[in-house]
Amino acid sequence: MVQDKCKELNTAINLYVIDSAESLEVFRLKYLTKKSPIQDLFSLLKDITLEEKKIAGQYINEVKQLAESKFEKYKESYLNLNIKNKTVIDYTLAHNGQKTGSRHPLQITLNNIIQIFSKLGFTVSEGPEIENDWHNFSALNFPAEHPARDMQDTFFVNNDYALRTHTSSVQVRLMEATKPPIRSLMPGRVYRNEAISARANCFFHQLEGLYIDKEVSFADLKYTLYEFVKKFFNNDVKVRFRPSYFPFTEPSAEMDISCQICKGKGCNVCKHSGWVEILGCGMVDPQVFTNCNIDKNIYSGFAFGMGIERLAMLQYGINDLRIFFDNDTRFLNQFVPEN
Ligand SMILES: [Zn+2]
Repeated sequence: MVQDKCKELNTAINLYVIDSAESLEVFRLKYLTKKSPIQDLFSLLKDITLEEKKIAGQYINEVKQLAESKFEKYKESYLNLNIKNKTVIDYTLAHNGQKTGSRHPLQITLNNIIQIFSKLGFTVSEGPEIENDWHNFSALNFPAEHPARDMQDTFFVNNDYALRTHTSSVQVRLMEATKPPIRSLMPGRVYRNEAISARANCFFHQLEGLYIDKEVSFADLKYTLYEFVKKFFNNDVKVRFRPSYFPFTEPSAEMDISCQICKGKGCNVCKHSGWVEILGCGMVDPQVFTNCNIDKNIYSGFAFGMGIERLAMLQYGINDLRIFFDNDTRFLNQFVPEN
């Protein structure tokens, strides 16, 4: 008799579905109070023998434990929500209008540049911002008396280390560590001890590129950079190369593009010349190859470097580079992509 009732209760408890705080509470009232059918079973024990009591008592206790353990199992999930004064998150409320951040315009410009060059097979390399003399100057043919080695132009950390003045130091590290062919970009922050103005800052961002293989020529350099400016600005852009000098390239050149604002007619941005300088470039000096243990008789290569700020200013028509570093949300919000 007791055993049959226990079996019935056992099945009922197992089948009982608890899926909310309410159903948990109904379960508790039904099986865990003094008025529960389990308690009623104990009253049946009065009428049976001592031997039967032992067995029946065991059955009843098993049912009781089953109900208690089921309650404990679901209590964690549902009961805490009902505790008064506890903050309950209402997921249906409208959000408070807080805006998410967006990419910085310099990062957008950098990502665009990297994407264009990556289609031409360039990878990305990075290096330390605190550099030693060898990687920042000596390996790149900077003579001992070069003004860049002066305290007035460079931030020195101590006698041996300075904040890198260009990302060319990463080119040196890459050439030292990698056997050609090399085709890579070096983006990063660089530092110069300069007065801050609309056109100069004590730090800015560069992207350099390096391509080394057998029989790389100046024609490859021109083709690569022309492809880049056509993709970055537009297909109608004109380019010209002017001879220049850098310690680490020979021959060296600066590349101009036709002014994208006045279309070559002349304006303030191009100083009425119709041309805007955008980057420096050249064939890697054979002495730099020797400094980096690359055989200059087998390999040749070209390098180029551009300022990210300069390209972003030309792309977005910005005339003061300090605005990039103000973190003024009125400026930055204009670069939030539209949904
Ligand atoms: Zn112009």
